[in-house]
Amino acid sequence: MDIQKMYIDGKWQLSASNKTREIIDPATEKCIALVTDGTSEDVDHAVAAAKRAFYEDGWMDVSAAERADYLTKIADLLEKDKQAFAELEMRNNGKPMRETLVDVDDSVYCLRYYAGYVTKPTGQTYNVPDTNMQTLVVREPIGVCGQIVPWNYPLLMGIWKIAPALAAGNTIVFKPAGLTPLTIIRFFELIEQAGLPKGVANLVLGPGGSVGQTMAEHPDIDKIAFTGGTVTGRKIMQAATGNIKNVSLELGGKSPNIVFADADFEAAVDYAMFGIFCNQGEVCAAGSRLLVEDSIYDKFMAALVERTKKIRVGAGNEPDIEMGPLISRAHMEKVLQYIESGKRSGAELLCGGHRIDRPGWFVEPTIFAAPNGDMEIVKEEIFGPVLAVQRFSTEQEAVQIANDTVYGLAGGVFTQDGAKALRVIKKLRAGITWINCYNPTFSEAPWGGYKQSGIGRELGSFGLDEYTEVKQININLAVEPTGWFTAKP
Ligand code: NAD
Repeated sequence: MDIQKMYIDGKWQLSASNKTREIIDPATEKCIALVTDGTSEDVDHAVAAAKRAFYEDGWMDVSAAERADYLTKIADLLEKDKQAFAELEMRNNGKPMRETLVDVDDSVYCLRYYAGYVTKPTGQTYNVPDTNMQTLVVREPIGVCGQIVPWNYPLLMGIWKIAPALAAGNTIVFKPAGLTPLTIIRFFELIEQAGLPKGVANLVLGPGGSVGQTMAEHPDIDKIAFTGGTVTGRKIMQAATGNIKNVSLELGGKSPNIVFADADFEAAVDYAMFGIFCNQGEVCAAGSRLLVEDSIYDKFMAALVERTKKIRVGAGNEPDIEMGPLISRAHMEKVLQYIESGKRSGAELLCGGHRIDRPGWFVEPTIFAAPNGDMEIVKEEIFGPVLAVQRFSTEQEAVQIANDTVYGLAGGVFTQDGAKALRVIKKLRAGITWINCYNPTFSEAPWGGYKQSGIGRELGSFGLDEYTEVKQININLAVEPTGWFTAKP
């Protein structure tokens, strides 16, 4: 098997470490690729290239139109290769093909969105009190951006970072999760094919604890953008203090999905499943806490459990499959431990709860009735197909339970009373919310969390702003001495 390489300064390179990493298909437990395993030294090379490309080779002066052209070219190449990318993502991550096809479509759309956005009007002018002054604000690229992503949407999470960073005129050093580098390696081949100047986009591979940590600490990285767990996010924030890096963090969640008695019943049941079992529950914004109003609780849960038992679990390329395996043995074991914790703490297991007896890291879609808000399965992010259901009897109680978490990423409300829906959504301490649906995500709209779910926003205009510095320019329209100091020469 060939060893897949990193892309640093326009060249495909093996790490000086000479170490390799096996990449495993989570549906078969078989090795599907070998990749080079990078080190801190490789990060240094990549950062030096990105710094040179930005300051010396002229990337900082490339026009927005030209940057947009590169992104459009890359989007076209990705679209042309959609099927191959979707298959590779399915094999590396495990999720069903119907999901990886959507991920590739979303990636193409996001690249095109930022290609279009970056040539549109920007900046502000101010009417300041001194009429002899014109003050204006321009946005400029930050410089060298380090970008680190997790394994749940390996390509899409990458594009959410790469597209706005390049659109805004930065250079990048990018690190995928150690488990899922394959589609991103292929994507950097497209970057090369599109002719992006060397050093502008660099790919490093390797462990978070060394390669990722070095990026977060690096004195020549001006901004670090991270998506991953809250524990890692905290480490990144601490590591970034050395040179006071600009930091943006997209972290975990334990998001509430609230169903009132007057909701459209079928839609609410359907989205309760979609909210937690889509992508095997490995979704930061998953509706992992379901809150159901007392008066419909029994009927709702009967329908939800009946439908959940019928979810077809299997390898992503099996026909009609609806849910794939978890990403790794270690992660599957963590999810199974949470299931055991749920049982021990007295939550009622309504369906699922076991590993599926076949090769691969498959866990049944699992639902617990979990009346006590202090249970681990209610409080902690499981990041798997495990739903904890609580009940409520008033609007006020629903809001109180919903906000009883250290996280604040997302939340949903189902009711046919429009005023109630908006009232409740406005009370939720969360950055991404849905009324009468769950999960739809758009490149146009900001993505990110309150509280311990992160800092900053990705996507939309907010996502582009995260990759810019703000500069005020004050122009004197009446050029003459101030006369402040009166002594003459
Ligand atoms: P993780 O935090 O373990 O790893 C994420 C990335 O950080 C990986 O590339 C990893 O190699 C790297 N990393 C690990 N330790 C590091 C360190 N000390 N310094 C720098 N980098 C380091 O997360 P994961 O298990 O890959 O992903 C699951 C988590 O990601 C969940 O908590 C989930 O909620 C979160 N997530 C959040 C969003 C969002 O948009 N808010 C999206 C997807 C996933």
